[in-house]
Amino acid sequence: IGEMGIPYQTISESDVRRIIPKRQMNSHKGTYGKASLIAGSFGMTGAAILAAKASLRSGIGLLKLVIPESLHTIITTNVPEVVTVPLMETRRGVFGINQVEKLIQNCKGSDVVAIGPGCGQNAEMIEVVRQLITQVDKPLVIDADGLNTLSKNVELLANRVNGIVITPHPGEMSRLTGLTIEAINQHPIDTATEFAVKWQIVVVLKGARTVVALPDGSVYVNLTGNPGMATAGSGDVLTGIITSLIAQGMTLANAAIAGVFLHGYSGDIMAVQRGEHGLIAGDLIEGITQAFNALL
Ligand code: AMP
Ligand code: MG
Repeated sequence: IGEMGIPYQTISESDVRRIIPKRQMNSHKGTYGKASLIAGSFGMTGAAILAAKASLRSGIGLLKLVIPESLHTIITTNVPEVVTVPLMETRRGVFGINQVEKLIQNCKGSDVVAIGPGCGQNAEMIEVVRQLITQVDKPLVIDADGLNTLSKNVELLANRVNGIVITPHPGEMSRLTGLTIEAINQHPIDTATEFAVKWQIVVVLKGARTVVALPDGSVYVNLTGNPGMATAGSGDVLTGIITSLIAQGMTLANAAIAGVFLHGYSGDIMAVQRGEHGLIAGDLIEGITQAFNALL
């Protein structure tokens, strides 16, 4: 039972094993879905790379990485498997407002759209978030700077045309709700549930014990993961995993539940190999492959 008496269940390994997508003999890359991931800006290129790699290692068929064009070389050198959608820049490492239409058209062609890791907060991003929520009828995963941008106009969610998963850490949740970080940490289940029910979206409130709250008020608490995962880039990996699972046909709720479990499980596997002190976000990418192997 949660802080104010909200019942919850923990996420079990057998549940996740049952719902994760299996590969089929008679399949091709289209079978496993296509995502557009809007991530990265000057100084935060790594976030885009981490989210992209996590998405690919979780089984997606095709990932289109939407980036400011000057990041193109570093991105494709590090992740040759992505298709990049380079957008022209008006400032260094930030795509121009005249590129928003091209971006939105690209997203309309994908099975799922994700926005946030390292994408920065600026006027262009405010317009992108607005159009994604109100005009693109595809599942949407919002993280990091996507959430910080959404915080400036949360009411946009009232006009959403799609299913949405948000993945805030307590700081981002504080900006979204106006609650203090202390209040959120004291009542994570209540906070996540209230927001999920109010806006009818899936809320993944991250922490040592991540809470997944669904629009119907049901709540799942994840028990995998360890303090080694408290390291920069860790959340970007989670965004990639959840996006990939949605592309492969999972419901937003199941993708969030399985995603947080797999993410923590990857961390637990890699903490054995690296130690909690040595664990870095890039290790989680390697951990994903081992986590899937252990579950399938
Ligand atoms: P972010 O702050 O966006 O990089 O996300 C951090 C990620 O690491 C989230 O998925 C958290 O659940 C996870 N994480 C951070 N600290 C811990 C911890 N002490 N124990 C388990 N998981 C953690
Ligand atoms: Mg983050």
